[in-house]
Amino acid sequence: MSGANGSARPPGNIAVALVYPPYGPAGLPSLGLAILSAGIKSRGFTCRTFYWNLDFVRELPGDGLASQMGLYRLLNGRPFLPLNEWVFGGLLHGHEMADRDAELTQRLESFIPPDLPLEFTKCDLLRLRDGAPDIVARMTDQLEIYDVIGINSTFFQNVPALALAKAVKARWPHKIIVLGGANCDGPMGATLLAQYPFLDYVFSGEVDYAFPDFIGRLANGECEKVSDLRGIFFRCDGGIGHGLAPAPLQDLNGLPIPDFEDYVAARRDVGLDANGGLCLPLESSRGCWWGAKQHCTFCGLNANGMGYRQKSADRFYAEVETVVKRFGPRFLFMADNILSMNYYHDFLDRIIDNDLGVHFFYEIKANVNRKQAERLARARVTLVQPGIESFSTRILQRMRKGTTAIRNIALLKYARECGILLTYNLLAGFPGEEREEYASMAEQLPALTHLQPPNGLSPIEFHRFSPYHSDAAKYGLHLQASPKYRYLYPFSNDVLDNLAYVFETCAEGVESDQEYLDELRAQVKFWQQHFEFECCPLTWCWSGSDIIVDDRRPRLGPRRYRLRDFAVAVLRLTDDPRSLSGLIEAADGNGCNLDEAEVMAMLTTFSPPPACAEEQAIAFTKAEFLQDSSACLTAMIKAGLLYVEGESYLALPVRRSSPEYAKRWYELGI
Ligand code: SF4
Repeated sequence: MSGANGSARPPGNIAVALVYPPYGPAGLPSLGLAILSAGIKSRGFTCRTFYWNLDFVRELPGDGLASQMGLYRLLNGRPFLPLNEWVFGGLLHGHEMADRDAELTQRLESFIPPDLPLEFTKCDLLRLRDGAPDIVARMTDQLEIYDVIGINSTFFQNVPALALAKAVKARWPHKIIVLGGANCDGPMGATLLAQYPFLDYVFSGEVDYAFPDFIGRLANGECEKVSDLRGIFFRCDGGIGHGLAPAPLQDLNGLPIPDFEDYVAARRDVGLDANGGLCLPLESSRGCWWGAKQHCTFCGLNANGMGYRQKSADRFYAEVETVVKRFGPRFLFMADNILSMNYYHDFLDRIIDNDLGVHFFYEIKANVNRKQAERLARARVTLVQPGIESFSTRILQRMRKGTTAIRNIALLKYARECGILLTYNLLAGFPGEEREEYASMAEQLPALTHLQPPNGLSPIEFHRFSPYHSDAAKYGLHLQASPKYRYLYPFSNDVLDNLAYVFETCAEGVESDQEYLDELRAQVKFWQQHFEFECCPLTWCWSGSDIIVDDRRPRLGPRRYRLRDFAVAVLRLTDDPRSLSGLIEAADGNGCNLDEAEVMAMLTTFSPPPACAEEQAIAFTKAEFLQDSSACLTAMIKAGLLYVEGESYLALPVRRSSPEYAKRWYELGI
């Protein structure tokens, strides 16, 4: 085995540059690099992290930072593949890809996604590509004093990362070039090392300790002794050698506090300080407790295993406190795949008791109950990404999501009441899916327009490491690397299959035409266009012992209902999803037991919403309900006040919100 170009490194200090290329998210530092930087510095070595992606933002066309950031966010999205990476392709492959470059250039306009919110033309893209050599040269210039250049590659960073690696090696052959990040997971890492001779090492998987240890070996002149390191690939005997297999780190408590110094400085230099509060990433866990039990069929996360590991709540609280004190972020973006169920009390309670004045983002499982949602809100977990994905239980079962349509909608309601902002998508295109489910979802959406809409409706992608990829035959899939990679790499299909993360299929059972989604897509668009954060169009409030429902949903209102007698109990009993038998049981017993908070709410004088239509009464007694429950429920269902799934019911109106929650959206600045 040899080190970089066979050079033996003298013992002593060593200077490490870590580089975060375009198109890594610009509003957020890299958590992985921040942990590596802390680990390298703690061993006494010099380390600086370069946010090349932020420098690149300034290279984009636009009349100021805000529009450049807007364009960067577009380029950072999947619809811009392969154009985003292709900007750097000429540097990487030169004339090797002349034919494909010519083909792409000719069809460039058809590759630019339609309906862009910003002006971005074919000429802009070609200008960027022409300017790429200078952009890479400017980044390369900054690396002169460093011995080891560690470059991150995740999602659309691959071609820019490789272009930089090639330029650095051409200028300083003795520098050691290392590639790491999610694009090096599984067979992708060894394939990259095999295809690109200017890379000296590739690291794959969770290398929080292995990479700093590697730097220590280099500093000691032990570049030959790396085969016991986890996740490393190196050159040996004209081929590729590897160290210990990548494996998930078991004890997260021992990880260093991430080092965000360089990001904070880079952000200030670029001028992002003026653009809003600082947002920093942290992680309280790795893996996915749900995926370990039942891997969602489309999920390609956690290449090295779903096994769930978490920091103790005490340890993580201390980390949050330290980062808040040191950097003063306004927002902490949790990189966890899923929030631990223990954290709802162990961690969130501590945050509630010791308000640190910072907001959190977490990915959560969608089937939380109202109490959990309230706890999230009180702890300022103000933005969450729940795994909603669909409003069809059959489709959710098909993707093994472990939630139901009614639970998903309940979460939308709790979030609206508690002031939690959501980010979620609807997905379609699952192998064997039932088309009629999308038509029935489209019919239901007008009743939901008071709740936060999805970001969009997208066909699923087939990702490496997902069950659809690893068990393709079971789903009748014949997957091959997305044809988009043809425009980025000059390799055979076999090599592309080892390099790609996104795959495509033409198997039966997967709808290639999208017409069956048209109606649902139109309903989602309508929902997005009419949704207002500040003003909820379907609310309820107490009026004595009655409930007044004010309905101004675009396709159902304006109407106003007065619920009386046991209709009041039904609305309150179905605040959480409840089965018909559960309702009958409650009616048979004590009916609707109002808790203390509800009684207080009743006693508070609410001004009823202004009259907007003739008030309609919905009233039935407990005896009438017990005698003919379906007739009693029909009036509420027809009015769009109850969502029905099978024999389960969910009240849709949102309690008239307190102004405090409305304020939250502005505090967050989103
Ligand atoms: S999609 Fe989310 S919940 Fe499902 S396995 Fe992946 S990380 Fe876990």
